[in-house]
Amino acid sequence: MNTKEKTDYKQIWSNCLRVIRDNINYQSFKTWFDPIKPLRLEGNVLTIQVPSQFFYEWLEEHYINLLKKTIRQELGPSGRLEYSIIMDNSLVNNARCTVNMPTSNKKATQNPAVAMPLDLNNSNSKEIPNPFIIPGIKKIRVNSQLNENYSFDNFVEGDCNRLARSAGFAVGQNPGKTAFNPLFLYSKVGLGKTHLANAIGIQVKNGFPDKTVLYVSAEQFVNQFIESVRNNNQNDFVHFYQMIDTLIIDDIQFLSGKEKTQDVFFHIFNHLHQKGKQLIITSDKAPVEMQGVKPRLLSRFKWGLAADLQVPDLETRMAILAQKLYGDGVEMPAEVVEYLAYSITTNIREMEGALISILAQASLNKKDITLELAKQMIDKYVKNTAREISIDYIQKVISEYFNIPIELIISKTRKREIVQARQLTMYFSKKYTKSSLATIGLHCGNKDHATVLHACKTVSNLTETDKKFSIFVNELDKKIQG
Ligand code: ADP
Ligand code: MG
Repeated sequence: MNTKEKTDYKQIWSNCLRVIRDNINYQSFKTWFDPIKPLRLEGNVLTIQVPSQFFYEWLEEHYINLLKKTIRQELGPSGRLEYSIIMDNSLVNNARCTVNMPTSNKKATQNPAVAMPLDLNNSNSKEIPNPFIIPGIKKIRVNSQLNENYSFDNFVEGDCNRLARSAGFAVGQNPGKTAFNPLFLYSKVGLGKTHLANAIGIQVKNGFPDKTVLYVSAEQFVNQFIESVRNNNQNDFVHFYQMIDTLIIDDIQFLSGKEKTQDVFFHIFNHLHQKGKQLIITSDKAPVEMQGVKPRLLSRFKWGLAADLQVPDLETRMAILAQKLYGDGVEMPAEVVEYLAYSITTNIREMEGALISILAQASLNKKDITLELAKQMIDKYVKNTAREISIDYIQKVISEYFNIPIELIISKTRKREIVQARQLTMYFSKKYTKSSLATIGLHCGNKDHATVLHACKTVSNLTETDKKFSIFVNELDKKIQG
C-alpha cells in the first residue's frame, strides 16, 4: 500500500530511532535501543532483533506507545513490529535460536507464541535424572537461610534499582522460567544486593512452597567446600547443592582466585541451569570487571541478565528512611530525616547506621531527636568518608538561607532576588560538584551551559565589587561546607 514498502528496512528503523532518541533520555536510549538490530521488512511488518526475552518485555512495557507511534509514522496505520529474540544458550544447543514474537497491545495470553518458545526448560528434553533423588520420595527440608526482614514489601523502588528490582520480581514469580538465569545483581557495597536477593528467595518460597530455596554467602560456600575436602565427602557437598531449586549465592567475588571452588561451582551451576533451576548471584562488580574468575565461569554469569543497583537519588533515600522508620514504629522529625538523606549520599547501609545511632543516642541520653543531635552524630559518621556535596544539597542550603522555595529557584522567574539565588546555586554547584555546566543548568531551571557560565562570572564579579554580596557568599560557603 505504501511506497515505503520497498525502502530499506535499515533506513526505516533508523528513522524510527531518530524519533525515539528525541523522546527518551540518552541513557535509556543507549540501554534499550542501541542493541536492537533491524532484520527485515515484509509488507508492513518490520522485524527487529533484541538480545533477550527481558529486553522484549521491557520494551513492550515501557516503550510500546512510542514504538507504535513511530512505526505507524513510518509504515502507515497498519504498520507492525515483530521481535526476534536471540537465545544464546549453549547448553540447550550451540546454535542461536531465533523466535519470532509478534508485538501486540494485548499480552501473552492471547498470543501463545509469545510465552511458549521461550521456555528453555521445555526445549531441553534430555533431562538426566539425578540418581540421588528417588522420585516420589519427599525432598529433604533445607534451611533456606533467608533473612525474613528483607522482602519486596520493604524494598523501596527507585530509578537506581528499577531494572534489577523488576527482573528480580519476575524471577521470584517464575523461578527458572524466565530468561534471567542466572540473575546477576551487582553494585558497590550497601546498595541493596543482599536485600533484593533475599526478597526474591522469600517470594519463591511463598509462591512455591515445594521448592527448595537456599541463600548462601560465597564465603560460606567456600568454607563448606574446604570442609568437605577435608572430610573427604565432596560428593555429598556437590549433591546437596544439585538438589536446590533456587540457589542464591551472595558476594560471588569471594570466589576470586579460588580455582578449586570455582570448578566445583561451575559443575553445580551447569547442573542446576540445565535442569531449569534458578540461580541468583550477587557481586561487587559487573561480570566483565571481575578478576580472578575463570573465563568459563564468567561466561556463564553473562547468560542471563546482569543488572546493577545504583546509588539512590535524594527522593529514594528519603523513602528508604521513611520506610525504615515506619517498619520500626519510630517517629522522627521530618527535618532530621531530610538532613540524613541529604548528608549521606553513597551508601544505604551507612545511612541506616546513622539513623540507628541517632535513635540510640536520643534514647540513651533521654534527649529529643533534634536536628542539632542529628548534626552531631552525622558529623562523626560522615567526616571521614568526606561528604559529597550535591546540587540538591546546595539548592536546599540556598533555599533556606534566602527563604525562597526550591521550586522558585529552579523556575523561570526573572525576579531579581530569585535570579540571584539561582545564580548562586549554579556558582556553588560549579565549585563543589563534579557536574558539568550542562547538568548544573538542567537542575537549575533547565538552563543551558552558557547561562551557567554567565552566572558563575556574575557571582565572581559581584563578590569582588559588592561588599554585602560577598558576605552572603562567604556565609553560604561555610554553610554548604557544613
Ligand atoms: P549490599 O548487599 O549491596 O551491600 P544490602 O542489601 O546489605 O546491600 O543493603 C544495605 C542496607 O540498605 C540494608 O539494610 C537494606 O535493607 C537497605 N536497603 C538497600 N536498598 C534498599 C531499598 N531499595 N529499599 C529499602 N532498603 C534498602
Ligand atoms: Mg551484601
